[in-house]
Amino acid sequence: MMRHDDGPSMPTTSTGVAILGSTGSIGTSALRVLSRQRDRFIPVALTAHGNVGALAEQVATWRPAYAGLVQPHDEAPREWGVGADCLVTAATHPDARIVINAVVGAAGLPATLAALRAGKRVALANKETLVVAGAIVTETAQRHGGELVPVDSEHSAILQCLAGRQPHEVRRLVLTASGGPFRTWPTARIANATIGDALKHPTWQMGSKITIDSATLANKALEVIEAHHLFGVPYDRIDVVVHPQSIIHSFVEFVDGSVLAQLGVPSMELPILYALTFPERVPDTGVPSFDPVALGGLSFETVRYDDFPMLQLGIDAGRRGGAAPAVFNAANEVAVAHFLAGRLSFSGIAERVSAALQEFSGASGASLEDLLQADAAARHLVHAQVGC
Ligand code: MG
Repeated sequence: MMRHDDGPSMPTTSTGVAILGSTGSIGTSALRVLSRQRDRFIPVALTAHGNVGALAEQVATWRPAYAGLVQPHDEAPREWGVGADCLVTAATHPDARIVINAVVGAAGLPATLAALRAGKRVALANKETLVVAGAIVTETAQRHGGELVPVDSEHSAILQCLAGRQPHEVRRLVLTASGGPFRTWPTARIANATIGDALKHPTWQMGSKITIDSATLANKALEVIEAHHLFGVPYDRIDVVVHPQSIIHSFVEFVDGSVLAQLGVPSMELPILYALTFPERVPDTGVPSFDPVALGGLSFETVRYDDFPMLQLGIDAGRRGGAAPAVFNAANEVAVAHFLAGRLSFSGIAERVSAALQEFSGASGASLEDLLQADAAARHLVHAQVGC
């Protein structure tokens, strides 16, 4: 019912949102969205990895019912939850209807599963969740009435293009890739790219792990696997095309040859809002109105698979299935951490991931325990090979 007085909006009518990773790039974008959508949504639980100061500011501003910090810290208020368990506590908070999972890496998996078991909507920015255990996650959602809605811009685009369509009408998904900072670099130069080079993403402002994944194109491999699980489309009907402007966020080609694309300026606030309101759209003023003339032009290129081996390694791991995607993801997480610490060259990331995939290619992925074991073994191997 409409309210006609000028009083404050009633929080009891707002949908409660838990944000896991609230101080990161997606988390802060999500809070900007919520600040414009106070009549519809209210943050009820916030968790951060280790940024105690930023979380304290968010708690002071939003006064959520629950706050948690993954890494224990002396300055954390006593009422906050502490340790990795705080992710599950926030994800299953009774006041939360929607859980934005913006945790980095496989560490986000238990919270995704717990939220789905509790029948909540998971607005998923933590793509590693679906890479490590896609079949288990989608089955958990179906069995318990939970709902997975992508925050990843490519998958949000596909979800929007698929609205009202049936699976048998889809011929092919085409994920766009910016190509990262080394898209035009000569082959020999890429191998020795520095941390500074790799952190200069041309179109998106993101956290360091996903920015490195975008430079190696590992991110696009993770997204192909994510798309396979989210939309139930086989790998031979998912393609990747380089689109440097990051304006078209992905395409869907239908069986009659018609193609739909979703366009927008590169802002994560758009897919975050859609993940909250899907299948509806609500008015929002977060990004300026779209100006096609100002764009100057949109271009497309084939992927340089030989120069960015992480993409094919990841897609092959997805096709192989079992524990291979979990091994790919775990080895990549550790290799990227070593690269960011200056202990591994840029080309060393793909070398270490390839070695881990060869070592554990036969590992079973039948149960969650199998997958977590393969994840741990791959991490151990890469740590040992890099020498620490
Ligand atoms: Mg993406």
